[in-house]
Amino acid sequence: MTAQRLDGKAISKQIQAETKTKVAEFVSQSGRAPVLAAVLVGDDPASQVYVRNKERACKRVGIESRLIRMSGESSTEDLLAKVNELNNAPEVSGILVQLPLPDQCDSRTILDAINPNKDVDAFHPHNVGLISQGRPRFLPCTPHGIVQMLRRYDIETTGKHVCVIGRSDIVGKPMAMMLGQRDSGLGPEMANATVTLCHSRTANLAEITKQADILIAAIGRPNFVTPDMIKPGATVVDVGINRTDDGLVGDVDFDAAMEVASYVTPVPGGVGPLTVAMLLENTLMAALQGQ
Ligand code: NAD
Repeated sequence: MTAQRLDGKAISKQIQAETKTKVAEFVSQSGRAPVLAAVLVGDDPASQVYVRNKERACKRVGIESRLIRMSGESSTEDLLAKVNELNNAPEVSGILVQLPLPDQCDSRTILDAINPNKDVDAFHPHNVGLISQGRPRFLPCTPHGIVQMLRRYDIETTGKHVCVIGRSDIVGKPMAMMLGQRDSGLGPEMANATVTLCHSRTANLAEITKQADILIAAIGRPNFVTPDMIKPGATVVDVGINRTDDGLVGDVDFDAAMEVASYVTPVPGGVGPLTVAMLLENTLMAALQGQ
Protein backbone atom coordinates (compact mmCIF):
# COMPACT_ATOMS: atom_id res chain seq x y z
CA MET A 1 0.00 0.00 0.00
CA THR A 2 1.24 3.49 -0.72
CA ALA A 3 -0.24 6.31 1.30
CA GLN A 4 -1.28 9.71 0.06
CA ARG A 5 1.10 12.54 0.86
CA LEU A 6 -0.69 15.40 2.63
CA ASP A 7 0.49 18.54 0.86
CA GLY A 8 0.82 21.19 3.57
CA LYS A 9 2.38 23.63 1.16
CA ALA A 10 -0.64 23.57 -1.16
CA ILE A 11 -3.12 23.87 1.72
CA SER A 12 -1.09 26.72 3.19
CA LYS A 13 -1.27 28.56 -0.16
CA GLN A 14 -5.03 28.05 -0.23
CA ILE A 15 -5.42 29.42 3.31
CA GLN A 16 -3.12 32.37 2.58
CA ALA A 17 -5.18 33.26 -0.51
CA GLU A 18 -8.30 33.31 1.69
CA THR A 19 -6.50 35.44 4.31
CA LYS A 20 -5.32 37.85 1.61
CA THR A 21 -8.92 38.51 0.55
CA LYS A 22 -9.99 39.08 4.16
CA VAL A 23 -7.01 41.39 4.80
CA ALA A 24 -7.93 43.46 1.73
CA GLU A 25 -11.47 43.83 3.11
CA PHE A 26 -10.06 44.91 6.46
CA VAL A 27 -7.79 47.47 4.79
CA SER A 28 -10.61 48.92 2.70
CA GLN A 29 -12.86 49.23 5.76
CA SER A 30 -10.32 50.49 8.29
CA GLY A 31 -7.85 52.31 6.06
CA ARG A 32 -4.89 50.51 7.64
CA ALA A 33 -3.16 47.15 7.40
CA PRO A 34 -2.90 44.67 10.27
CA VAL A 35 0.59 44.83 11.81
CA LEU A 36 2.59 41.87 13.14
CA ALA A 37 5.56 42.76 15.33
CA ALA A 38 8.16 39.99 15.60
CA VAL A 39 10.86 40.19 18.26
CA LEU A 40 14.05 38.33 17.37
CA VAL A 41 16.69 38.05 20.07
CA GLY A 42 20.25 37.08 19.13
CA ASP A 43 21.38 35.39 15.93
CA ASP A 44 20.19 31.79 16.12
CA PRO A 45 20.24 30.71 12.43
CA ALA A 46 17.02 28.66 12.58
CA SER A 47 15.15 31.51 14.28
CA GLN A 48 16.39 33.93 11.59
CA VAL A 49 14.98 31.63 8.90
CA TYR A 50 11.62 31.26 10.69
CA VAL A 51 11.26 35.01 11.17
CA ARG A 52 12.22 35.72 7.56
CA ASN A 53 9.60 33.21 6.35
CA LYS A 54 6.97 34.86 8.54
CA GLU A 55 7.90 38.33 7.21
CA ARG A 56 7.64 37.14 3.60
CA ALA A 57 4.30 35.49 4.28
CA CYS A 58 2.96 38.70 5.87
CA LYS A 59 3.93 40.62 2.77
CA ARG A 60 2.19 38.11 0.50
CA VAL A 61 -1.19 38.63 2.20
CA GLY A 62 -0.94 42.39 2.83
CA ILE A 63 -0.05 42.30 6.54
CA GLU A 64 2.62 44.78 7.59
CA SER A 65 5.46 43.11 9.47
CA ARG A 66 7.83 44.82 11.84
CA LEU A 67 11.00 43.03 12.83
CA ILE A 68 12.52 44.10 16.13
CA ARG A 69 16.04 42.74 16.43
CA MET A 70 17.51 42.63 19.92
CA SER A 71 20.98 41.73 21.07
CA GLY A 72 21.67 38.17 22.22
CA GLU A 73 22.85 39.77 25.49
CA SER A 74 19.38 41.22 26.21
CA SER A 75 17.97 40.64 29.68
CA THR A 76 14.45 39.67 30.73
CA GLU A 77 13.91 43.34 31.70
CA ASP A 78 15.04 44.55 28.25
CA LEU A 79 12.52 42.24 26.63
CA LEU A 80 9.75 43.15 29.04
CA ALA A 81 10.29 46.82 28.19
CA LYS A 82 10.03 46.02 24.47
CA VAL A 83 6.91 43.89 24.91
CA ASN A 84 5.33 46.66 26.96
CA GLU A 85 6.08 49.19 24.24
CA LEU A 86 4.44 46.95 21.63
CA ASN A 87 1.46 46.25 23.92
CA ASN A 88 0.87 50.01 24.08
CA ALA A 89 1.36 50.70 20.37
CA PRO A 90 -2.20 51.00 19.01
CA GLU A 91 -1.18 50.21 15.44
CA VAL A 92 0.39 46.84 16.41
CA SER A 93 -2.20 44.07 16.02
CA GLY A 94 -0.12 41.03 16.95
CA ILE A 95 3.13 40.37 18.81
CA LEU A 96 5.34 37.33 18.55
CA VAL A 97 8.53 36.66 20.43
CA GLN A 98 10.57 34.13 18.48
CA LEU A 99 11.62 31.17 20.60
CA PRO A 100 13.97 29.89 21.87
CA LEU A 101 15.25 32.87 23.84
CA PRO A 102 18.82 33.01 25.18
CA ASP A 103 19.34 31.27 28.55
CA GLN A 104 19.47 34.48 30.59
CA CYS A 105 15.91 35.40 29.48
CA ASP A 106 12.95 34.05 31.41
CA SER A 107 10.71 32.99 28.51
CA ARG A 108 7.64 32.38 30.65
CA THR A 109 7.76 35.85 32.23
CA ILE A 110 8.21 37.46 28.82
CA LEU A 111 5.42 35.52 27.10
CA ASP A 112 3.09 36.20 30.04
CA ALA A 113 3.68 39.93 29.57
CA ILE A 114 2.21 39.99 26.04
CA ASN A 115 -1.26 41.53 25.94
CA PRO A 116 -3.57 38.49 25.47
CA ASN A 117 -5.43 40.41 22.75
CA LYS A 118 -2.19 40.63 20.74
CA ASP A 119 -0.94 37.12 21.62
CA VAL A 120 -1.10 35.63 18.12
CA ASP A 121 0.87 32.54 19.17
CA ALA A 122 -1.79 31.83 21.84
CA PHE A 123 0.80 31.11 24.54
CA HIS A 124 -0.59 33.44 27.22
CA PRO A 125 -2.25 31.59 30.14
CA HIS A 126 -5.45 33.56 29.50
CA ASN A 127 -5.59 32.27 25.93
CA VAL A 128 -4.60 28.73 26.96
CA GLY A 129 -7.45 28.83 29.49
CA LEU A 130 -9.93 29.91 26.83
CA ILE A 131 -8.76 27.10 24.55
CA SER A 132 -9.18 24.58 27.37
CA GLN A 133 -12.75 25.77 27.86
CA GLY A 134 -13.50 25.40 24.15
CA ARG A 135 -14.00 29.14 23.54
CA PRO A 136 -10.70 30.22 22.00
CA ARG A 137 -9.74 33.81 21.21
CA PHE A 138 -6.85 32.51 19.08
CA LEU A 139 -6.01 28.92 18.24
CA PRO A 140 -2.32 27.99 18.55
CA CYS A 141 -0.77 28.08 15.08
CA THR A 142 0.69 24.57 14.68
CA PRO A 143 -2.26 22.58 16.11
CA HIS A 144 -4.67 24.85 14.22
CA GLY A 145 -2.75 24.28 10.98
CA ILE A 146 -2.93 20.51 11.52
CA VAL A 147 -6.71 20.58 12.01
CA GLN A 148 -7.13 22.81 8.94
CA MET A 149 -5.13 20.35 6.86
CA LEU A 150 -7.08 17.32 8.10
CA ARG A 151 -10.35 19.12 7.43
CA ARG A 152 -9.37 20.09 3.91
CA TYR A 153 -8.48 16.45 3.16
CA ASP A 154 -11.83 15.34 4.67
CA ILE A 155 -10.12 13.47 7.49
CA GLU A 156 -12.55 13.89 10.36
CA THR A 157 -11.48 13.30 13.94
CA THR A 158 -14.82 12.68 15.64
CA GLY A 159 -14.90 9.23 17.27
CA LYS A 160 -11.33 8.48 16.16
CA HIS A 161 -8.48 7.49 18.40
CA VAL A 162 -5.85 10.22 18.12
CA CYS A 163 -2.44 9.63 19.64
CA VAL A 164 -0.22 12.68 20.14
CA ILE A 165 3.45 12.02 20.96
CA GLY A 166 4.99 15.01 22.78
CA ARG A 167 3.46 17.22 25.46
CA SER A 168 4.96 20.65 24.73
CA ASP A 169 2.96 23.79 25.46
CA ILE A 170 3.36 24.77 21.81
CA VAL A 171 2.18 21.63 20.03
CA GLY A 172 1.38 18.43 21.92
CA LYS A 173 -0.65 19.74 24.84
CA PRO A 174 -2.88 22.19 22.91
CA MET A 175 -3.32 19.63 20.11
CA ALA A 176 -4.60 17.05 22.58
CA MET A 177 -6.82 19.62 24.25
CA MET A 178 -8.39 20.80 20.98
CA LEU A 179 -9.13 17.39 19.52
CA GLY A 180 -10.64 15.98 22.71
CA GLN A 181 -13.25 18.72 23.01
CA ARG A 182 -16.82 18.77 21.73
CA ASP A 183 -15.85 21.62 19.42
CA SER A 184 -12.69 23.68 19.49
CA GLY A 185 -14.04 26.28 17.09
CA LEU A 186 -13.58 24.34 13.85
CA GLY A 187 -16.71 22.22 13.94
CA PRO A 188 -17.60 19.09 15.94
CA GLU A 189 -16.39 16.81 13.15
CA MET A 190 -12.88 18.21 13.73
CA ALA A 191 -12.96 17.52 17.49
CA ASN A 192 -14.60 14.76 19.56
CA ALA A 193 -11.62 12.42 19.33
CA THR A 194 -10.49 9.98 21.98
CA VAL A 195 -7.04 11.35 22.66
CA THR A 196 -3.98 9.67 24.14
CA LEU A 197 -1.13 12.02 24.99
CA CYS A 198 2.22 10.21 25.05
CA HIS A 199 5.58 11.54 26.22
CA SER A 200 9.10 10.53 27.19
CA ARG A 201 7.89 8.53 30.22
CA THR A 202 5.15 6.63 28.39
CA ALA A 203 5.50 2.87 28.83
CA ASN A 204 4.92 0.58 25.83
CA LEU A 205 4.73 3.51 23.43
CA ALA A 206 4.44 1.42 20.25
CA GLU A 207 1.51 -0.56 21.73
CA ILE A 208 -0.38 2.71 22.14
CA THR A 209 0.60 4.42 18.90
CA LYS A 210 -0.37 1.28 16.95
CA GLN A 211 -3.97 1.75 18.08
CA ALA A 212 -4.22 5.29 16.73
CA ASP A 213 -6.34 6.18 13.71
CA ILE A 214 -4.48 9.50 13.65
CA LEU A 215 -0.92 9.64 14.94
CA ILE A 216 0.63 13.06 15.53
CA ALA A 217 4.38 13.14 16.25
CA ALA A 218 5.84 16.27 17.92
CA ILE A 219 9.01 14.97 19.52
CA GLY A 220 12.09 16.45 17.86
CA ARG A 221 13.88 13.17 17.14
CA PRO A 222 14.73 12.25 13.55
CA ASN A 223 12.82 9.25 12.15
CA PHE A 224 11.62 8.25 15.65
CA VAL A 225 8.29 6.85 14.41
CA THR A 226 8.92 3.56 12.63
CA PRO A 227 6.38 1.47 10.68
CA ASP A 228 5.82 -0.97 13.57
CA MET A 229 4.36 1.97 15.55
CA ILE A 230 1.71 2.76 12.93
CA LYS A 231 -1.72 1.18 12.55
CA PRO A 232 -2.27 0.09 8.93
CA GLY A 233 -4.38 2.71 7.18
CA ALA A 234 -3.75 5.42 9.80
CA THR A 235 -3.16 9.12 9.17
CA VAL A 236 0.31 10.19 10.27
CA VAL A 237 1.08 13.85 10.95
CA ASP A 238 4.76 14.69 11.38
CA VAL A 239 5.41 17.94 13.24
CA GLY A 240 9.12 17.37 13.84
CA ILE A 241 11.77 19.52 12.21
CA ASN A 242 15.22 18.03 12.74
CA ARG A 243 18.39 19.34 11.15
CA THR A 244 20.64 16.40 10.21
CA ASP A 245 23.59 15.84 7.88
CA ASP A 246 21.01 14.67 5.32
CA GLY A 247 19.09 17.95 5.60
CA LEU A 248 15.72 18.56 7.28
CA VAL A 249 13.92 15.43 8.44
CA GLY A 250 10.81 14.86 10.51
CA ASP A 251 10.05 12.65 13.49
CA VAL A 252 8.58 10.00 11.19
CA ASP A 253 10.42 7.65 8.87
CA PHE A 254 8.48 9.02 5.89
CA ASP A 255 9.21 6.40 3.22
CA ALA A 256 8.47 3.52 5.57
CA ALA A 257 5.32 5.21 6.91
CA MET A 258 4.03 5.64 3.35
CA GLU A 259 3.95 1.82 3.05
CA VAL A 260 1.71 1.34 6.11
CA ALA A 261 -0.44 4.45 6.51
CA SER A 262 -3.21 5.98 4.39
CA TYR A 263 -2.02 9.57 4.70
CA VAL A 264 1.36 10.99 5.74
CA THR A 265 2.64 14.58 5.96
CA PRO A 266 6.12 15.15 4.54
CA VAL A 267 8.94 17.19 6.09
CA PRO A 268 9.53 19.75 4.73
CA GLY A 269 6.27 20.78 3.05
CA GLY A 270 3.85 19.40 5.63
CA VAL A 271 2.96 21.04 8.93
CA GLY A 272 5.56 23.86 8.77
CA PRO A 273 3.89 25.98 6.03
CA LEU A 274 0.53 25.62 7.82
CA THR A 275 1.93 27.05 11.04
CA VAL A 276 2.88 30.24 9.18
CA ALA A 277 -0.53 30.44 7.47
CA MET A 278 -2.34 30.26 10.80
CA LEU A 279 -0.12 32.97 12.27
CA LEU A 280 -1.32 35.30 9.51
CA GLU A 281 -4.91 34.35 10.18
CA ASN A 282 -4.45 35.09 13.91
CA THR A 283 -2.88 38.47 13.13
CA LEU A 284 -5.88 39.41 11.01
CA MET A 285 -8.18 38.23 13.78
CA ALA A 286 -6.27 40.34 16.33
CA ALA A 287 -6.64 43.37 14.06
CA LEU A 288 -10.38 42.75 13.66
CA GLN A 289 -10.85 42.27 17.40
CA GLY A 290 -8.82 45.42 18.13
CA GLN A 291 -11.02 47.65 15.92
P1 NAD B 1 9.61 19.87 22.83
O1 NAD B 1 10.97 19.81 22.22
O2 NAD B 1 9.27 20.96 23.77
O3 NAD B 1 9.29 18.50 23.58
C1 NAD B 1 9.43 17.25 22.97
C2 NAD B 1 8.38 16.32 23.51
O4 NAD B 1 8.69 15.02 23.02
C3 NAD B 1 8.34 16.24 25.03
O5 NAD B 1 7.03 16.48 25.48
C4 NAD B 1 8.77 14.82 25.36
O6 NAD B 1 8.01 14.24 26.42
C5 NAD B 1 8.53 14.08 24.06
N1 NAD B 1 9.53 13.03 23.90
C6 NAD B 1 10.88 13.14 23.89
N2 NAD B 1 11.45 11.92 23.77
C7 NAD B 1 10.45 11.03 23.71
C8 NAD B 1 10.39 9.63 23.61
N3 NAD B 1 11.51 8.90 23.55
N4 NAD B 1 9.19 9.03 23.58
C9 NAD B 1 8.05 9.75 23.65
N5 NAD B 1 8.03 11.10 23.74
C10 NAD B 1 9.21 11.73 23.78
O7 NAD B 1 8.51 19.78 21.66
P2 NAD B 1 8.03 20.79 20.55
O8 NAD B 1 8.43 22.19 20.84
O9 NAD B 1 6.58 20.45 20.39
O10 NAD B 1 8.84 20.34 19.28
C11 NAD B 1 8.78 19.03 18.77
C12 NAD B 1 9.28 19.01 17.34
O11 NAD B 1 8.36 19.74 16.54
C13 NAD B 1 10.63 19.68 17.14
O12 NAD B 1 11.31 18.99 16.12
C14 NAD B 1 10.28 21.08 16.66
O13 NAD B 1 11.28 21.64 15.85
C15 NAD B 1 9.05 20.78 15.84
N6 NAD B 1 8.10 21.89 15.68
C16 NAD B 1 7.62 22.09 14.43
C17 NAD B 1 6.68 23.07 14.19
C18 NAD B 1 6.16 23.24 12.81
O14 NAD B 1 5.59 24.25 12.50
N7 NAD B 1 6.28 22.23 11.97
C19 NAD B 1 6.25 23.88 15.25
C20 NAD B 1 6.74 23.63 16.54
C21 NAD B 1 7.67 22.62 16.75
